[in-house]
Amino acid sequence: MFYESTRNSGLRMNSMEVIKAGLSMDGGLFVPEEIPLFNAENFDTMADMTYMERALKTLGLYLDDYNEEDLQNAIEKAYGSDRFDCPKIAPVVELGDNLFVQELWHGPTYAFKDMALQLLPHLLTTAISKTGEAHEVAILVATSGDTGKAALEGFKDVVGTRVIVFYPDSGVSPIQKLQMVTQEGDNLHVIAIEGNFDDAQTGVKAIFNDGTLAKEGLSKGIKFSSANSINCGRLVPQIVYYVSAYVDLVSGHSLAPGEEFNVVVPTGNFGNILAAYYAKKMGVPIGKLICASNSNNVLTDFIRTGVYNRKRDFRRTISPSMDILISSNLERLLYEISQRQDYRVREWMEGLHDIGEYRLDGESLMELQTHLWGGYAEEAETREAIRNTYDGFNYIMDPHTAVGKWVYDEYCKETGDNRKTLLVSTASPFKFPRDVLSSIKGHNFIREKDDFEVINLLSELWGRKVPRGLKAIDEKPIIHNTIIPKNNMKQGVMDILELEG
Ligand SMILES: *Cc1c(COP(=O)(O)O)cnc(C)c1O
Repeated sequence: MFYESTRNSGLRMNSMEVIKAGLSMDGGLFVPEEIPLFNAENFDTMADMTYMERALKTLGLYLDDYNEEDLQNAIEKAYGSDRFDCPKIAPVVELGDNLFVQELWHGPTYAFKDMALQLLPHLLTTAISKTGEAHEVAILVATSGDTGKAALEGFKDVVGTRVIVFYPDSGVSPIQKLQMVTQEGDNLHVIAIEGNFDDAQTGVKAIFNDGTLAKEGLSKGIKFSSANSINCGRLVPQIVYYVSAYVDLVSGHSLAPGEEFNVVVPTGNFGNILAAYYAKKMGVPIGKLICASNSNNVLTDFIRTGVYNRKRDFRRTISPSMDILISSNLERLLYEISQRQDYRVREWMEGLHDIGEYRLDGESLMELQTHLWGGYAEEAETREAIRNTYDGFNYIMDPHTAVGKWVYDEYCKETGDNRKTLLVSTASPFKFPRDVLSSIKGHNFIREKDDFEVINLLSELWGRKVPRGLKAIDEKPIIHNTIIPKNNMKQGVMDILELEG
């Protein structure tokens, strides 16, 4: 199968090339030229399969220039042995009659980014060796908190790769920051920027689109790539858990085969929910894709009005991984809903870049709204969702997932749609212990306590163990302490890679 750019459908490459490249040269994103289909029998046979076997079935359709053995090895390394702390990898738990929660945070960094970033390095190294790539691959990452750590863990000591992570200095949670700045590994670099996530993402995209730098890199044996969700190698592995959830719901008799269900996704850069859209197009009987935002609710407005307007204040919230005003992966959805008319996508993206907004035509908006519904939660609502869910179900959610829960309840109230629903839980509550525990017990309860007392109390309250990697994280040495202005990212990269620019 070939992949084509959303801004020029004539620009086509196979999956190995696309995974190595990350972003397309024209600034667009690569998408599969067609979306493969599963039929009822395919889903039936997956009932008895492990997550890894389901992954092989699904990935095989998209990454057909990889041979089966290579894919299997990559999948084994990603999800096998003890990388994940739950053998089901992406377990689905029931929360009331109609709502199911899929926990996507059993990987080594406790957020859903591991679902793809445990696999991507192996896909990339396979692509490097199979295509005879002679260059070292320098992976640039912009993170709103979770991607950075997941990429560092995934690429740690992976031969032929170097990783440079940029995170907003005051835009990630204390634990997210500690996870990154204490990361060991000779091929890894972590840099804080004085700016927000959008600044980091824009800076990284600018470095990618800097032809002179790319050329100099190549002449010195270095090729740039991306581990952000703009890389198709992130998107495809994320489709697997939607397939897996459906198969589990059917085999657990929570859904009849073919019965439609809705999906709620706490959304930032639009990568996760886009994977759900692909799953739907592949034949998973998904009804509405419910896009949940925090108070950075640019997507809610967009889905309701067709106007994407990023000219608004950036808000810092207790769900920092969703503090985003420019959702990159939306471009891939626009490409699909506009019947793959690359020139329209180009126009919209130019509007976004030049004047900070664009407007969909009526037809595209209608198509968008057949699939999507958007809502958002303010901070107090997010906290209330955490508390309610604990009180009602004895279940603890992290703030991102709680945004999804709040929006789910709003959706049911507003539409009366009572189909069964899957809420994807994107992070472990142990990553955000203060905000979670204070939502349940009140601010006074945690005031005098440090993070690690709070983590232990959370563990007692929930009856689940503190994840291995978060124990004593405050005692680890800090390895990375560079802070730079947001306009110096290119210089930062040149310094690390010893380029002149
Ligand atoms: C990254 C992230 C999100 C947003 O996912 P997107 O694919 O960027 O929309 C939501 N929650 C958590 C915990 C995350 O790490």
